[in-house]
Amino acid sequence: MGTFVVNASNVATASDASLTNPAISSISPDGKKSFYLETFGCQMNAHDSEKVSGVLLGRGYRAVENPAQADLVLYNTCSIREKAAQKVFARLGDWKTVANGKIIGVLGCLAQQEGEEIFERAPWVSLVCGSASYRKLPELLAQLEAGGRRVTGLDLDTDETFETEITRRDNLIRAYITIIEGCDYSCSYCVVPHTRGPERSRASDAVLAEAQRLADAGYTEIQLLGQTVNSYRDPSTRKWRFVDLLRAVAAVQGIRRVRFTTSHPNDFNHEIVHAIDETPALCDHVHLPVQSGSDRVLRAMRRTYTREEYLQKIEWIRAAKRPISITSDIIVGFPGETEADFEDTLTLLDAVQYDTIFSFTYSPRPNTSAKDMPDAVPEEEKSKRLAALNERQRQIQIANNEKLVGATFEVLVDAHHAARGQWTGRSTSNRLINFTSTRENLLGEYVSVRVTRGGPNCIGGEHVL
Ligand code: SF4
Repeated sequence: MGTFVVNASNVATASDASLTNPAISSISPDGKKSFYLETFGCQMNAHDSEKVSGVLLGRGYRAVENPAQADLVLYNTCSIREKAAQKVFARLGDWKTVANGKIIGVLGCLAQQEGEEIFERAPWVSLVCGSASYRKLPELLAQLEAGGRRVTGLDLDTDETFETEITRRDNLIRAYITIIEGCDYSCSYCVVPHTRGPERSRASDAVLAEAQRLADAGYTEIQLLGQTVNSYRDPSTRKWRFVDLLRAVAAVQGIRRVRFTTSHPNDFNHEIVHAIDETPALCDHVHLPVQSGSDRVLRAMRRTYTREEYLQKIEWIRAAKRPISITSDIIVGFPGETEADFEDTLTLLDAVQYDTIFSFTYSPRPNTSAKDMPDAVPEEEKSKRLAALNERQRQIQIANNEKLVGATFEVLVDAHHAARGQWTGRSTSNRLINFTSTRENLLGEYVSVRVTRGGPNCIGGEHVL
């Protein structure tokens, strides 16, 4: 058993009247308790928040936009970088003198990483729960509703995933389905195995049922989520692999686009490219984080593949019958990264010609094996390398996006900018396209857009009627 602590020895008991929570039982004018939930970090967190909201709505709470009006204030946190963690503690600090009967809760990665330390740093916090324990949220909320002062869910020892009866969908265009939670890799810089626990896949029939429900509700685009989404292994007797699930979700009646993120290069195989080639509903975009172009650094990061093996997978993708967009994550300034190692990353950008990258400077995190590695790269040097990396990638994007002028893309429209007189949407290759149209009310529609200009970060075009 892992940790599931309610009223532990260092915290107050529910019978301590001076520390009970009056606000949670106070009723708002509409007769419902209210909650405010702010999310930090990745898409997995954003979708977890949709599910947490679903749990709360199912218990009779109503969502409010302003934390000052909420009985329950929750922060779903990220600890991937020092800055993200600092931001959460700054938010918690805001409540130091004004929490006044509100329930303040910390969810997600920082909750798992810091555990009960959060109560020490911010004694006005009442709930600390990591994502691997979200299935216990109803139980924890019941403890709080009964007057419990401090409750924690910090269990990592589980093979269950977080299933909810109701999920509040915040994105009206694209719906997310988590198919795998946690991670069994042990990249030396990464907190995820510690904060999200071991890998757990959802049964394929549950995933397909959710996809069908979403299609019935009018969604046409689904994104399958997982920290290592392509490591999926169906725990049911079907024993599907990731590619089987991918094909099956794409075959759900009403679904026109299926995306997936994030793929681990180690588990990325040729069959995924074949599936994309053969299945129009599978989007022509692969996000394949490389992190570094240097074998020496990849080894130190424990990424389990070499530059050559990674480039082999890129070749498979490039050899597909339809062009597939490739994006990546890159870390610069990992301990011991030399100028030559960094140059290897720059030459990798040239070789792959990514459509875009998400770039970061390395920051040491607690509970990671890289934290105490020698030969730290000075901050100034990290920033210099990050700027050089981004400039190289910018040049690649300008050149490649200019080549798209004259091409036509099918765009799923997701926003309108009245001031600019423009619509925005994504192509199946996940390219951001701004365009003009003489039509009105395009939101949620699939339209044809001809590219008229290519910029470094997005492309512009006009609606082809
Ligand atoms: S694969 Fe590595 S970087 Fe990705 S979540 Fe797992 S440990 Fe972290």
